[in-house]
Amino acid sequence: MKNIGLYIHVPFCKSKCPYCDFYSMRMCGGQADDYTACVLESLEHWADRLGRKADTLYFGGGTPSLLGGSNIALITRRAKALFGVDGEITVECNPSATEDDFFDTVAKAGVNRISLGMQSAVDSERRKLGRVADSKRVEECIKAARGVGISNITLDVMLGVPDQTAESLKKTIDFCLKNDVPHISAYMLKLEEGTYYYNNAEKLNLPDEDATADMYTFLGDILEENGYRNYEISNFAKPGFEGKHNLKYWNCEEYLGIGPSAHSFINGKRFFYPRDIDAFRLGCEPVPDGDGGGEEEYIMLRLRLAEGVVFDDFRARFGQSFSAKILEKAREFEKHGLVEISEESLSLTRKGFLLSNTIISSLIYG
Ligand code: SF4
Repeated sequence: MKNIGLYIHVPFCKSKCPYCDFYSMRMCGGQADDYTACVLESLEHWADRLGRKADTLYFGGGTPSLLGGSNIALITRRAKALFGVDGEITVECNPSATEDDFFDTVAKAGVNRISLGMQSAVDSERRKLGRVADSKRVEECIKAARGVGISNITLDVMLGVPDQTAESLKKTIDFCLKNDVPHISAYMLKLEEGTYYYNNAEKLNLPDEDATADMYTFLGDILEENGYRNYEISNFAKPGFEGKHNLKYWNCEEYLGIGPSAHSFINGKRFFYPRDIDAFRLGCEPVPDGDGGGEEEYIMLRLRLAEGVVFDDFRARFGQSFSAKILEKAREFEKHGLVEISEESLSLTRKGFLLSNTIISSLIYG
């Protein structure tokens, strides 16, 4: 049996960013230790129940670094003991919520990858996103992580944020290049219903869709010139630094998510913990979410990757050839430079990445 990925959701943040609809809340006193105890209990439960090994561990949130280095270390050590995790171990950190000895403590427990929620290296843009740390603090975190031997660092960059221009984005890209981080995730801002941004969009001086699409292309061109590969729609990596945990999602492989709002895909079934910390603390079972890993889902996820759907892999997984009907539809997009079709695979081009939702749904359901 293949190893699974382990995901731990930490639903706490210092404050709520105005665009965010992730499941997170302000942390109150004592909650860090209490939540850590619940996660440890849940790890024991799932290790017994599944009897599986994991080769990646990912702490996401929320702001996992708010749990504190010693709690992250505790969970990491237990996950290694119970699931044999021996590969990539990532912690998402908010530069404003990371104590000084955090990196040293977690590195000693085996954490070997840090994801820093920078969003922009332009401090005025960061402030509008609700981020209080300045770019100097981001730089300090990068140095501190490297100082304890964690060189696998990824920075989040947001595109289409208030007041952003090509010039200001260039400053953010230059910051990433100057700090020589091996991985960058670049997401376009989405206005999620119920958020402050959603309710106040007209006051925000947001770049329009075309300007944001141009920023994506601009960023991708510069990163590729500097040795990064756009291996997934929103992700760029130097060779060998692709995010192994997230690749499990796009490769339609199995993973176990622990914590409120965390999703799982195990033994062909999808299930998730509701967005309810009390239910999680009380040990409520996750909610079934149907079967997963079918052909359509596989195609949808794999087309997010530059590699696309490899026909031999598809045949090995599903015992049949890739759909001729989908290929026929893809030929139309190929004429516009949006997809590439070869003897071996079907994939989206970078131009196609910008229209991925439309193209993928048209290929599968059109
Ligand atoms: S730090 Fe991340 S998870 Fe927390 S509110 Fe901000 S965007 Fe959301």
